[in-house]
Amino acid sequence: MSDTLPPLPPVGDLSEQQVRGTACVHCGIVLDNATAVDLGERRTGRAGGRVRWFPRACPEHAGT
Ligand SMILES: [Zn+2]
Repeated sequence: MSDTLPPLPPVGDLSEQQVRGTACVHCGIVLDNATAVDLGERRTGRAGGRVRWFPRACPEHAGT
């Protein structure tokens, strides 16, 4: 994990597609499996419980 990556937005502000990793967490563009960058597993509190999610980003926002 690089220190140069921008912080992730709060999961509550994201669309379902962004939470599911089918859209970039930063810009919301729909991701292609060939170019999507996995940002790693994150844990967050939502709806009173702990949930895991797997944010992904487009190459531009992943810093590649
Ligand atoms: Zn993006």
